[in-house]
Amino acid sequence: MKIQEADAKSLLLAEGLPVPGWELARTPDEVRKAAEKLFAGGADRVVIKAQVLVGGRGKAGGVKLAGSSQEAFEIGGRILGMDIKGITVRKVIVGRAVDIVKEYYLGAIIDRASRRIVLMASAEGGVEIEEVAKTNPGAIHRVAAHAELGLLPFQARSLGLAIGLRDSLLNQFVAIAQGLHRTMKANDADLVEVNPLGIVNEAGPDGTAVPTLLCLDAKITLDDSGLGRHPGLEAMRDLDEEDPVDAKARKLGINFIHLDGTIGCMVNGAGLAMTTMDLVKHYGGEPANFLDVGGGARHEVVCGAMELILADPNVKAILVNIFGGITRGDEVAGGIIEAQRSQSRVVPMVVRIVGTNADEAARLLREAKLETASSLDDAAQKAVAMAKGAAR
Ligand code: GDP
Ligand code: MN
Repeated sequence: MKIQEADAKSLLLAEGLPVPGWELARTPDEVRKAAEKLFAGGADRVVIKAQVLVGGRGKAGGVKLAGSSQEAFEIGGRILGMDIKGITVRKVIVGRAVDIVKEYYLGAIIDRASRRIVLMASAEGGVEIEEVAKTNPGAIHRVAAHAELGLLPFQARSLGLAIGLRDSLLNQFVAIAQGLHRTMKANDADLVEVNPLGIVNEAGPDGTAVPTLLCLDAKITLDDSGLGRHPGLEAMRDLDEEDPVDAKARKLGINFIHLDGTIGCMVNGAGLAMTTMDLVKHYGGEPANFLDVGGGARHEVVCGAMELILADPNVKAILVNIFGGITRGDEVAGGIIEAQRSQSRVVPMVVRIVGTNADEAARLLREAKLETASSLDDAAQKAVAMAKGAAR
C-alpha cells in the first residue's frame, strides 16, 4: 500500500527524523490560511505540494513556491484539480519553504536476495533514482543492515562518507539513516525513500546560517501482508486513489489481478490459479485475470468475483476451476449459478469442480445447464474454443 507524502512524513517524525512541518489543504482558501500562519510565524516563502501517489510531481508542476499568502492562494487554485499522470489532485500540503543548498537521495528497501534491509544513498538527489541507476550507477552507494542488530552506526557512517558528508552533517546523516531503518521495521514497510534529503541553511541561535539535513520529501510503501499488525496504518489508505476494482477485491478478500486477455478465470488457490492460466495459454488462449477466491469461498464472494470478471469488457469466456477441500463444491456451484443469473452480461462459461461435494456440484451445474469439464485440460480447451467462437 502506497501512502501519501504527508502520512509518510508523520511516520518519519514518529521515529524522530527532521521533517519540516506542514498543513494539509483541500481548497485554495485553506491553502491561503495555512500560508498566512506560516508567514506570520516568520517564513519568507512557502512550498505547496500536490498529494498524489506518483513520483515526479515537481516536474509535472505539482510543487511550487509562493512568496505571499495571495500567491499561495493562486498557486493552490492551480494545483488543486490539476491532473498529474492521470490522477486528479484533491489535496496539497503547505509548508515553510527552505533554502536548499544541495539535494541527496536516501532510501531503504528490502533486498530479497540478501534478505536484509538495504540502505541506498546518492549525492545525486532530487532526480528520480531509477534515472541515476541507469545513467550513473556508480553514484548509488549501498549498505545492508544487520538482520538482528539493525543499521549499525559504522554502516551509516560509511554510507554518509561515500556520498561526501563530513563533520556535523555526517553525524546528522547517521541519525537519519538509522531512523529510516527504524521506520522500515516499525511499520513493516517495503520501501522508505527520502528524495531529496536536503542540506538547508537554517538560522542558528545567533542568527548565522547552520547547514542542516532535512527530509524534504517522503515516500513509503507498506507491506500489505503486514497491515494486520498495524491497525493505525489502515487509515492512511487513500481511497480517492484506489482503483475501484482493487477496492472491491480487497473488500471481498480475494486476490485479483487484471490482465489483457479474453478468458476470465475463477480459481481457488494461488498455485492452482497460476496452473490454470498456464493451461489457458498452452491451448492458445489469453487469461483476462488472475483470481484466487481463497479457501472456503462462500456465495457472496463467488458472486462478487464473477462481477469483477465481467466488468472487464474484453472477457469473452469464463473458466471456473475449483478444487474443493475446505471449499465445498456444491456451495461454489450454487454461487456460480446465482451469480450468472444476476449478471447483466452473459458470456459462455465452463466449470470444473472436483473434490469435496463434487457430485452434488455436478448435479447442480447440470440442472442449470452449465457446461462442465472432466479435467482441467478439457476445461481450458473448452474455454479457449468459447473465447474464439465469441470473437468471431
Ligand atoms: P517529487 O517531484 O514528486 O519527488 O516532489 P519533491 O517533494 O521531491 O519536490 C520536487 C523538488 O521541489 C525538490 O527536489 C526540490 O528541489 C523542490 N522543493 C521541495 N520542497 C522545497 C522547499 O521547501 N524549498 C525549495 N526551495 N525547494 C523545494
Ligand atoms: Mn521527491
